[in-house]
Amino acid sequence: MIRGLALQVEAQRAVPARVDHERRPPEAVHSRVSELVEAAVAEGMTRRDFLNGVAISLGGTLTSAPMVWAQESYPPALTGMQGSTDASYAAAHALRDGQAFPFENLPSAGDVDLLVVGAGISGLAAAYFYRQRHPRARILILDNHDDFGGHARRCEMRVGKRLLITYGGSESIQSPYSLWSEPALSLLRELGIDLQYLETAFDRTLYPNLGLSRGLLFKREAFGIDKLVTGDPTRLVADDIPPEHLHARPIRAFIEGFPLDAKARAALVALYQERRDFWPRDSIARKIERLASLSYHAFLTKHWGLTQGAARVFHMRPHHFYALGSDLLPAFVAASSGYPGFQGLGLPIHPSDAAKLEEPYIYHFPDGNASLARLLVRKLLPGVAPGNSMHDIVLAPFDYTKLDADPRTQLRLESTVLSLRNVRGCVDVGYIERNRLRRLQAKRVVYAGYHAMLPYIMRELSERQRMALSRSVKAPIVYVKVALRNWEPWAEAGVHDVHNTIGFYSRLKLDYPVSMGGYRFAKTPRDPIVAHLVHVPVTAGHRDQRAAWQAGRQRLQSSPYREFERHAFDELSRILGSRFDPERDVAGITVFRWGHGYAYGFNSLFDSDEELSLQDVARVPVGRVAIANSDAAWSAYAHAAIDEAARAVDELSRLA
Ligand SMILES: Cc1cc2nc3c(=O)[nH]c(=O)nc-3n(C[C@H](O)[C@H](O)[C@H](O)COP(=O)(O)OP(=O)(O)OC[C@H]3O[C@@H](n4cnc5c(N)ncnc54)[C@H](O)[C@@H]3O)c2cc1C
Repeated sequence: MIRGLALQVEAQRAVPARVDHERRPPEAVHSRVSELVEAAVAEGMTRRDFLNGVAISLGGTLTSAPMVWAQESYPPALTGMQGSTDASYAAAHALRDGQAFPFENLPSAGDVDLLVVGAGISGLAAAYFYRQRHPRARILILDNHDDFGGHARRCEMRVGKRLLITYGGSESIQSPYSLWSEPALSLLRELGIDLQYLETAFDRTLYPNLGLSRGLLFKREAFGIDKLVTGDPTRLVADDIPPEHLHARPIRAFIEGFPLDAKARAALVALYQERRDFWPRDSIARKIERLASLSYHAFLTKHWGLTQGAARVFHMRPHHFYALGSDLLPAFVAASSGYPGFQGLGLPIHPSDAAKLEEPYIYHFPDGNASLARLLVRKLLPGVAPGNSMHDIVLAPFDYTKLDADPRTQLRLESTVLSLRNVRGCVDVGYIERNRLRRLQAKRVVYAGYHAMLPYIMRELSERQRMALSRSVKAPIVYVKVALRNWEPWAEAGVHDVHNTIGFYSRLKLDYPVSMGGYRFAKTPRDPIVAHLVHVPVTAGHRDQRAAWQAGRQRLQSSPYREFERHAFDELSRILGSRFDPERDVAGITVFRWGHGYAYGFNSLFDSDEELSLQDVARVPVGRVAIANSDAAWSAYAHAAIDEAARAVDELSRLA
């Protein structure tokens, strides 16, 4: 593939800068490009992919490949492997692996006032903030994916005629009343988002009213038997179900159902119920220090005396929220997340932790935070979609052919920025758009892409900033969406949300019940629904969080779609038993692979306070390039992405 890209670059060079689009290019050019096409095909690239990249220069003589979006390739409706696909990564990985992209030999395609790298929430918010200050500026936004929004990605599935809307990544506006800054909240208001309305759109009692609860799955490979235990009373960080509606069983009755021996079960009951203080003479500060340097797994086994089998019950519990197993999660974080075992230590709860625990997780559009991205895009590019409210955004049809039609604000997808160079009062930009190299000048740039990639793109960074940026190792995480013809098997099994003790998916649950803007969520178990499956490829035994995430990402790269499908059928069958028939019940599957998912967050098991200060080194502007993205805050939240965008735009406004 990488060689294929090089061949394309050569093909582009072979074509004169100006061609008459009505006539064939010169014969010599034509035959050289034909040779290159054949060589690229021999390298495993399809003829169509190759030509898509160079066809404009060739006046369409070699291909009939469409140069505009066809409706059937409407990104939110694509199934199969989505998210960060191999195609979206190819150019960035080629750059990382040493491939040279000779942008300096290309003619410039012109200039813009602001270039935004990355069309995630941070990049889109940066474009929006900049537009507010500079109404006449020409803004170009580039993103390597085939859809905008970054992690905030919309997913549409169909079961028969029924449209199901769900989220492929960033889920909800979390704890807006306590975690969101005033500038971020004011952006929500400007986008027309009424938080109180979102509270009413989320049906918090749909599942409880049917008597459904959370469950825990035990698998025979580790526990000798496949068993689903319902009525899980364990607290969740950010819960959408009101505590009084959990249908939780009393702790003892719940644990009684675990396929563990009596001693292990008794130890688990004690963990939930007994108030033990392991360090009665220590001050609170000292206890916190101890918990910060101890993993939750070690806390469970060394202090509570849980056997490995009993401790396994909690191993995958932090996967969804932290993308970590219990062996890499500091016990202190487990304590502030409501995990059992800390009730006797007398720890105070920090207000932001209390907010995460207490504020309900219900600020959710049907497509999750993709609606934030869609609202931003519609504000920036009103011609792309009709409407003007948080309600009509839910079903608003977006015309992807118009994303780069307005010369004032253009959003270009499948475009990876590979080079940024400050030169004489502007930034020289090199990027690759659908395999075609391009070059332009930007007066200012907001880099809202992954921090770890910036050192490859900007050669002029200081060594210290390079090092600081490369510490932003992101978590690998996959959301798999399974469209089901109905959810009667779930209702019969008595669960809507299942944590796994060991296995491929750490959590398997029914979608959030949100109806708004003409979209109606499944009302009864007879209706089609989307099941949400979470896979976090981290295993035990790594040096630290970064090493675990890097190894997980590598594994993910070689995991084909079939693997996700196979495990989905297997684990859903173990939960739902013979009531579930994949052939009959599954209407479609979309896999959202996020090799570079959650932004890195400080981990007290491995990071010192000095490490934390590297954040400030990483995001220092470089010449005319300001640096945003949630990576800049070491915080995997939409509000962090917005705050960092606001800061980056502020920094640019101070430039001469
Ligand atoms: C599975 C998942 C679930 C999440 N759930 C929540 C949630 O419920 N609530 C919450 O607040 N947060 C959640 N997050 C965190 C999420 O990261 C933020 O909400 C937010 O979407 C981050 O936005 P961003 O713009 O900083 O980064 P991103 O969304 O990563 O956007 C950056 C974009 O820039 C592109 N890019 C990078 N480098 C380049 C380049 N060189 N050239 C061109 N484009 C480039 C990237 O591919 C990407 O599209 C979740 C994240 C994941 C992965």
